[in-house]
Amino acid sequence: MNFEYTEKSLELQEKLKQFFNVHIQPVAEEVESFHANPKNAWKRWPGTEDLKEKARAEGLWNLFLPKAYGAFSPGLTNLEYAPLAELMGRYLWSSEIFNCSAPDTGNMEVLAKYGTPEQQERWLQPLLEGKIRSAFLMTEPEVASSDATNIETSIVSDGDDYVINGRKWWSSGAMDPNCKITIVMGKTDFDAPRHQQQSMVLVPIDTPGLNVVRPLTVFGYNDSPEGHAEIQMTNVRVPKENLLLGEGRGFEIAQGRLGPGRIHHCMRLIGMAQRSLEIMAERTTHRKPFGRTLDTYSSVRQAIAKSACQIEQTRLLVLSAADKMDRVGNKEAKDLIAMIKIVAPSMALDVIDRAIQVLGGKGVGNDTPLAHFYAAARMLRLADGPDEVHMSQLGKSIIKQYAQTR
Ligand SMILES: Cc1cc2nc3c(=O)[nH]c(=O)nc-3n(C[C@H](O)[C@H](O)[C@H](O)COP(=O)(O)OP(=O)(O)OC[C@H]3O[C@@H](n4cnc5c(N)ncnc54)[C@H](O)[C@@H]3O)c2cc1C
Repeated sequence: MNFEYTEKSLELQEKLKQFFNVHIQPVAEEVESFHANPKNAWKRWPGTEDLKEKARAEGLWNLFLPKAYGAFSPGLTNLEYAPLAELMGRYLWSSEIFNCSAPDTGNMEVLAKYGTPEQQERWLQPLLEGKIRSAFLMTEPEVASSDATNIETSIVSDGDDYVINGRKWWSSGAMDPNCKITIVMGKTDFDAPRHQQQSMVLVPIDTPGLNVVRPLTVFGYNDSPEGHAEIQMTNVRVPKENLLLGEGRGFEIAQGRLGPGRIHHCMRLIGMAQRSLEIMAERTTHRKPFGRTLDTYSSVRQAIAKSACQIEQTRLLVLSAADKMDRVGNKEAKDLIAMIKIVAPSMALDVIDRAIQVLGGKGVGNDTPLAHFYAAARMLRLADGPDEVHMSQLGKSIIKQYAQTR
């Protein structure tokens, strides 16, 4: 395994660091306090489009889309993208500036991989240009959605249309005023074999019958402007050409969508953890309890050392998963993807927790990003599949490998 970054990735890392120094850091406090103000809920920070223009002009755009997607892609591998996503993870709001934010990235991959030319022109093109945003509607309040075969939303054929009924929640991105399109997972055939009952359809967010019931918060954060919505769909009617891939293929699409999305979250978690470590280390040099600075206390040095070890271990594991995805495909890399999804959020939580402890009261307020990082990392032990589901699948896969060798 060769983890030397390519020239292209190194150049982009340098360019991205410069962009952060010149355009992101100077406005970070302003952006974060804008979004923390309840009066600005679901409003976009006025400078967002200007920053997006600048990033696009510098070629720092859609970097997430692997080169396997041909003309749609700027041509990076997952391995080349990993350190770039890590940099973006340092500021929770920054991925959108580079058109690299969830859930749009996963939705763009779905449209690039499975969309018809008409669907791509209508929805993928404006998403790639950052003109609109999107949401992915799978999870439902009434059923245990960590098992996606449980979902109950119905997609019923009616002449040239499908009619959709169901309730979704935790639909990230749906609160954003720029969100125009949703991908809805439901069932077209409740009697088919378990993994062939589901289908996915494109539903414009302004379709009559689709209503946002309420925004949801994560430990009190509304994650504006994207947010997470609870959504009721009552007799929502869309034309049949809005179906993705084919009836009964929804589960297959979900499997294909979640691999890349998971690794992107893990890359960003490393950025969150790294920035937390830096904040913690910096603080120790001038905070002075009981007559000496924190950096002289053995327990504080251990907190920093353990954090550095965990971050580097996880970084290498993520690079290993990215490398395998590039070489043999997402399906073959599924065990490594499961491993990073199990490891990265908990690693980040450990590091952020230590940083909060070292900062004392300052660590839990809004003067540093640590509290919001903690909420974001904690929810990633659930979103895109809870830890236990990944552990169950990974354990099963490993047992199977050894059973075969006997
Ligand atoms: C902030 C946030 C954003 C999200 N964004 C989206 C989104 O954009 N679109 C979307 O569709 N969904 C989204 N989700 C939903 C998320 O993917 C689900 O919450 C997750 O899949 C778990 O489903 P559930 O909440 O129904 O939990 P349940 O299925 O009820 O599971 C509850 C718990 O049971 C345990 N459990 C489950 N399976 C096993 C097992 N095999 N072994 C042992 N224990 C088990 C786990 O501890 C799990 O947390 C988001 C969630 C959050 C919190």
